[in-house]
Amino acid sequence: MVGQCNDKVLLNALTKLSTSFSTLKGEDYYESICRYVIENFGFEYSFVAKMDESASGMNVVSGWAKDKPMTTFNYTIKGTPCENAIAYDFIVYPNGIQKEFPKDIFLKKMNIEAYAGIVISNKDQEPIGIFAAISSKPIDNSKLTESILKLYSGFISSEMQRYSVEQRTDDLKSIAYYDPLTKLPNRLLITDRIRRAIANQKKDKKIVAICLMDLDGFKDVNDSLGHDAGDYVLVAVSRRIENIIRPEDTLARLGGDEFVIVLTDIDTSEHAAKVLQRILNSVASQYSYKHKLINSISASIGVSIYPEDDSDDDTLIRHADQAMYKAKENGKNQFYFFDTKEHVKVKANFKALKKIEKAIENGEFELYFQPKLSAYNLQIESLEVLSRWNHPVLGVLAPNEFLPLIENDELIYKFDEWVVRESLLSMQKFKKNDIDISLAVNISPKQFQQNTFAQKIKEIAADMDIDYSYFHNMEIEITENSALESITHTNQTIQELNKLGISFALDDFGTGYSSLTHLKELNINTIKIDRSFVSDMLQNSHDMAIVNAIISLSKVFQIEVVAEGAESIEELLMLLDFGCDSVQGYTIAKPMDYDNFVKYIKSYTPDPRLRIVSKNLPRRGDFELLLAESNHKYWMELVVDSIRRRNLEEAPHLSHETCRLGKWLKNNGKKYFSKLDSFNELVVIHKTIHKEVNIIMDLLEKNGYDNSEIYIEKIITLKDELISVIKKLKKEYSKDKR
Ligand code: C2E
Ligand code: MG
Ligand code: MG
Repeated sequence: MVGQCNDKVLLNALTKLSTSFSTLKGEDYYESICRYVIENFGFEYSFVAKMDESASGMNVVSGWAKDKPMTTFNYTIKGTPCENAIAYDFIVYPNGIQKEFPKDIFLKKMNIEAYAGIVISNKDQEPIGIFAAISSKPIDNSKLTESILKLYSGFISSEMQRYSVEQRTDDLKSIAYYDPLTKLPNRLLITDRIRRAIANQKKDKKIVAICLMDLDGFKDVNDSLGHDAGDYVLVAVSRRIENIIRPEDTLARLGGDEFVIVLTDIDTSEHAAKVLQRILNSVASQYSYKHKLINSISASIGVSIYPEDDSDDDTLIRHADQAMYKAKENGKNQFYFFDTKEHVKVKANFKALKKIEKAIENGEFELYFQPKLSAYNLQIESLEVLSRWNHPVLGVLAPNEFLPLIENDELIYKFDEWVVRESLLSMQKFKKNDIDISLAVNISPKQFQQNTFAQKIKEIAADMDIDYSYFHNMEIEITENSALESITHTNQTIQELNKLGISFALDDFGTGYSSLTHLKELNINTIKIDRSFVSDMLQNSHDMAIVNAIISLSKVFQIEVVAEGAESIEELLMLLDFGCDSVQGYTIAKPMDYDNFVKYIKSYTPDPRLRIVSKNLPRRGDFELLLAESNHKYWMELVVDSIRRRNLEEAPHLSHETCRLGKWLKNNGKKYFSKLDSFNELVVIHKTIHKEVNIIMDLLEKNGYDNSEIYIEKIITLKDELISVIKKLKKEYSKDKR
């Protein structure tokens, strides 16, 4: 077609520019023009080249070679026809070109005959490139060729300028939005991608997984093999992940060894988990850098799932980051899903804590009092202090509504301190009201485990200027588990506070991990059988056996036993019959506020039905006294025998304070029998026995066994006297009960 010249041809060429080529850009645009030139004007090769910065070289950026796109290449302008095209703006060599430019090896190699070239200029008319068409056949219509090339060169030059601005903008954008090392989107771009993924989710109802990945072992690679090796790993990790995720997903590098993966178009978190497992496996496979194998890399990934976690892009990344730390904590090379429910709880908890703190300050808490019935006289001798929150909207709230929220927080210290102070104040008020009663105060495990606990109690007492005698009426209830956390600490604290007169009870006994050994080791005075055993006791023989066993156990260790949760008279009767020292429960009375408690105690009379069992009471007192009595008799008989056998070593030396009867007299004897006349008689005779026996043994040791029969007689008389006083005491006691 070379040689034809008419307006129609030009018009066609122009139409092409404004239609088919109009949507193309840069290299694609040039290529289409070159192709059009070749297919319509008989050339074999056509190309667009850009002048390099030195102006001495050309980079072919696009072109068409016979029937396919031209591969790009660079050449030096000097000695080529292009040199003249630039010099003259346009040049055409219709034939014999090789002779004109003998040094141009391309012309020779491609067996070129004709050449037409036109300069591409910028808006300042400076050359920036060239547009050329070449042929192995001579050109017979140079005019048409010139017209065509001129027509196109104008368009090519404006596109070249426009495109270079766009590219520069792209470069700038790329610096702003892409990580130069891995070429991945950076932090700026990823938030935009997450926002878009969230917007799409709203349309397609799928879920979006925002995964924050941090490499494990990356620092070691950097430190041992250098930063180049580190960079290599980062790029390799990026490529591996890109091969696993789909084009619609996004992988971004936040910096350092932190990446974000946004998985879209997934239905469930299990689906995300599968992809993440593949990523973990892939990242943890070995790397080879400069013939060195790297095996120490793996990844920890934290995941937040939208819309389950209905947060904004920044928060979703932050939540994924928190979950990532969990994955690290749990041993690395794994993923961990952010726990939305847990988070909501923590947030709610924080709010609740603030409210409770305010409520303490506003005086919204109040102490309630629940009586404990003493098995020995069926009177109310003690009570348990229980806290209530008078919530302005919700009404009176029980501890299970607020304690779980604060018991692991520092706020519990403030709360416990309030309870102790308030209890001491109540004691003063009771005293003023002529109510002689012991208070059992609950202390939280966290507070009790503080090394400073005993000190704190003393500080409170000092601050309140409280009379220390009040402490003799105070018992502190600690839970089994908190007592066992450190037996040494527990015993030290108990001992220190025992000195003030405070006694200790082990609460909720049976629910923790106490064993017989522990009970022996702990210096506690009382155990409280947990309500759960008591409430089921009548229906469940196991529970009944447990209650019975705990009571027997407490007798062996000489520990007082309280049962809580007696809701019916039958339960109460049974507990008394088993030998409980005291009982607490709704059947006696529910916890009540101060005023109601005062009214209650002032008008208290024992339930007449309790008289049935009270006749047999006190089981425990009888038992202990029996044990002490027989123990003492046995010891005295041993002394007599050892004298008869003339071997005093066979009988132990016992003091009136440390023998079993002596202990009983000091503790439960004093507590429950001291009102009886014969009790003092017993104290006196008991003391006399020990004194006399000691004198006799000393005399025998010093003077020999000559008068031993007189001494034996004396001891037997004392023993009989003791037995008769004990008999009298028991008689008096049962009379007193009726
Ligand atoms: P706890 O120390 O074992 O107290 C006994 C609980 O059993 C009390 O519940 C009491 O009201 C309840 N109770 C007593 N008799 C019966 C009964 O016959 N039937 C039923 N169903 N329940 C009975 P409350 O007052 O709700 O206290 C629950 C727990 O909260 C207490 O258990 C104690 O561990 C803790 N607590 C209560 N007040 C305080 C306090 O001031 N400080 C601390 N640190 N803990 C407290
Ligand atoms: Mg308690
Ligand atoms: Mg309890």
